[in-house]
Amino acid sequence: MPPAALAELEKRHSWHPFTPMQAWTAEGHEPVMIESASGCALRDQHGREYLDGNASIWTNIHGHNHPVINAAIIEQLGKVAHTSFLGFSHSTAALLAKELVDLLPGGKMERVFFSDDGSTAIECAVRMALQFWRQNGQPERDTIVAFDRAYHGDTLGAASLGGIPTFKGSANQFGYRVVRVQSLDELRELSPERLAAVIIEPLIQGVANMRLWPTGMLRELNAWCGQKDVFLILDEVMTGFGRTGKMFACQHEDVVPDFLCLAKGLTSGYLPLAATLTTKRVFEGFHGPENTFYYGHSYTANQLGCAAALASLRVFREEAVLEHLQPKIAFLAELLAELGKQPRVVATRQLGLIAGIDVEGPAGTGAAVCLAARQHGLLTRPIQNTLVLMPPLCVTAEELLRMVDALRLALS
Ligand SMILES: *Cc1c(COP(=O)(O)O)cnc(C)c1O
Repeated sequence: MPPAALAELEKRHSWHPFTPMQAWTAEGHEPVMIESASGCALRDQHGREYLDGNASIWTNIHGHNHPVINAAIIEQLGKVAHTSFLGFSHSTAALLAKELVDLLPGGKMERVFFSDDGSTAIECAVRMALQFWRQNGQPERDTIVAFDRAYHGDTLGAASLGGIPTFKGSANQFGYRVVRVQSLDELRELSPERLAAVIIEPLIQGVANMRLWPTGMLRELNAWCGQKDVFLILDEVMTGFGRTGKMFACQHEDVVPDFLCLAKGLTSGYLPLAATLTTKRVFEGFHGPENTFYYGHSYTANQLGCAAALASLRVFREEAVLEHLQPKIAFLAELLAELGKQPRVVATRQLGLIAGIDVEGPAGTGAAVCLAARQHGLLTRPIQNTLVLMPPLCVTAEELLRMVDALRLALS
């Protein structure tokens, strides 16, 4: 189909997430349609190339079209694509669960519950925490504490935890109590008797304009939760799988939580799969026939997704991905320091290969800069007036340079 006809067809029938659709479908707007990709390079319907500046909305880890991950999915496809995990099992999930718990030190993480995306991984943790206390003698613990400007996903249950009104929509603490705190100090003032769990995006809040928590905060939060016997749920949907320079953000502060929620990068951005990791204590709180966890989804532990995730972990080992990350992180810091001198840049923040760049100007400036960056071969999406750079971990120094150059040109 010729590109123009294809664009018309797409505009007639598709409805896009987080997208003002009237402007999208307006005369003259031609959607960028990505038709192929390799490494950090994306190609659209006209064959134009762009660098994937936000790792395809924070999912991609080892680059697109990676031979090892492609081969693993194809091999699995030749066996079976999907069978039920309700009452049955399969080797890919069994192996993946073992590899995931082994990524955390000390053996505290023991169990893996699979689901489909970040939102379901979060909901799973919340429901497990609430049900655990209900059936283990402390039913008064019915409250989840979430932080100011938190973002934990868009399904009704996950959105109830969110602290950003735009993304909360109609969800308003659906079905369970949520208390919101600004800081660790405010949390300490709460009486813990009714608290089931505290949930946090460790070290950095993505959707809250890439806001960094103070160093040591996570460690202190973990200690407080331990003292009060309140579960700690870590949302590592964005920060997991090397994004911050270590496999998981919690490893920067030697924290192993009660629940660890993983999604986006789990399959290296190939397929929708999520995992909620938890402890022996939580698991044993569900023993007994009346204590079953009645929760799950049709595609739980999908075989293709599990095969992609196993292959992604193999790439981490075989390509020594985390070791090769350190010089890239240092180089990005240099580039950001330079970019920070641009007149319209107010501030830059970085954690590992995650960068937020605040630009001044009226609402919509961030979007305008990202639109202009397309002309210079970079695709990314801002959060209000914060530009986001979060490339796949396979990014080269030369590609980082081109990405930041594209932002600089777009800014000017
Ligand atoms: C993206 C994201 C989610 C939601 O994940 P989905 O796969 O979009 O449901 C939750 N928490 C954080 C920190 C995220 O970045």
